[in-house]
Amino acid sequence: MKILYGGLTYAHDFLIKGAMKRLGYEVEPLPTPDNEALKVGKEYCNKGQCNPTYYTVGNLVKTLKEKREKGEKDVEKNYVFVTAGACGPCRFGMYEMEYRKAVRDAGFPNFKILTFEQSSAVLEEMGEAGIRFDKDFFLSLMKAVFLGDLINDLYYKTKPYEVIPNSVDEWKEKALNMLYETLRKGKSILKTLRVIKKELDKVKVNYFQPKPKVKITGEFFAQTTEGDGNYRMARWLIEEGAEPIVEPVATWIEYLIYEKILDEKEKSFKNRKKAFKNILLLKALNAYVRGLYNLYRFALGNKPDPLKSQKKIAEYAHRYYNVRLSGGEGHMEVGKHIYMIKHKKAHMVISVKPFGCMPSTQSDGVQSKVVEDLGGSLFVAVETSGDAEANAKSRVLMKLYEARMRAIEEYENAKRKLGITDRDIEIAMERKKKLTSAGTKLPHKYVSTAANALLLVK
Ligand code: SF4
Repeated sequence: MKILYGGLTYAHDFLIKGAMKRLGYEVEPLPTPDNEALKVGKEYCNKGQCNPTYYTVGNLVKTLKEKREKGEKDVEKNYVFVTAGACGPCRFGMYEMEYRKAVRDAGFPNFKILTFEQSSAVLEEMGEAGIRFDKDFFLSLMKAVFLGDLINDLYYKTKPYEVIPNSVDEWKEKALNMLYETLRKGKSILKTLRVIKKELDKVKVNYFQPKPKVKITGEFFAQTTEGDGNYRMARWLIEEGAEPIVEPVATWIEYLIYEKILDEKEKSFKNRKKAFKNILLLKALNAYVRGLYNLYRFALGNKPDPLKSQKKIAEYAHRYYNVRLSGGEGHMEVGKHIYMIKHKKAHMVISVKPFGCMPSTQSDGVQSKVVEDLGGSLFVAVETSGDAEANAKSRVLMKLYEARMRAIEEYENAKRKLGITDRDIEIAMERKKKLTSAGTKLPHKYVSTAANALLLVK
């Protein structure tokens, strides 16, 4: 029995495969959902769903059909699909139902859809499929996800500045293959990360190019996918001369824990002792998650960004958005916008959301007030619908122009203030190897990478 899964980035899906192989599972990640998958999803899902449903459900149906067309026998028996389920207040709670309906209508009535949150009645079904959602399973999954986050973070931090075309892509490919083998064989992850860091040190970059840093946030699927679901936003931003900042999936894990702690606090009047115990357990889990993430970061020279504090995100958002509204990304879209600007992490924030996404539409309603209160931050909300790509991108381009101007101005001002000339930079790049190394962690005083690199010139 082969397990199908997917929906994150290529790095995540690939590393999850390695981790699951160690546990003895035969797994196959689905391809990145494209507009063809969207079309199939629209054909088989109920009307009025949101884009991620159409993309992900369509992707599964498309894959199953392709397998059958290629002559694979017993597709229903030989494969099972595993996904996250929920009963949240937005349409995410309906995904599982849509998956079941779509595969049935597409001619796979006995195909199994399993969710991590299965009730005990369905646990037997899992047993049949040979899957155990136990501690080892979730820990392996979490490690693979964190490693995917960190590799993606380093990729987007360095790709815009590579000197030799595709050298960062080659590093990424190599790093993923090394981590895949490490996870598959259950070897030391830290050791592998140290080797990966050394490999990154060898990649040559030129940081002295003032490029706008653009944070991509928004609805979970839309901000995470690397395909048509967000018009391949991160890659396109690099082509347009920007440095994109993508969100680690680990933020979402911390958000879920944070929400659970708030739930427990609210319920504590019913049974204080129980609530106290649960809160302690959740805090311990959060400390473990953060500790593991930081340990991996440390092995990579601390170059990847640390996870943002959930408390801070909520603190920033709460003036504008009720942090107890838990659909979709909840208050995080607002909180992250403020965080990125206040902490000088980005020149511009793009919020990508699927057409008709309920929570994102709500948070968009307050973003103009946030922009005003931040003194005119550069923020653009983009709705993705599969079509209208040119329209969405032209809106981003307009803001990107302003962001580029801000990055150049910041860089020139920093040069003046620090008394650094272009000749000083040239000499420093020749003499100081770390100034041209992709593995170097830059200090953080300014927003742009170029301005921060100036701090290492003298
Ligand atoms: S967050 Fe938005 S797009 Fe995602 S499931 Fe909920 S309503 Fe749909």
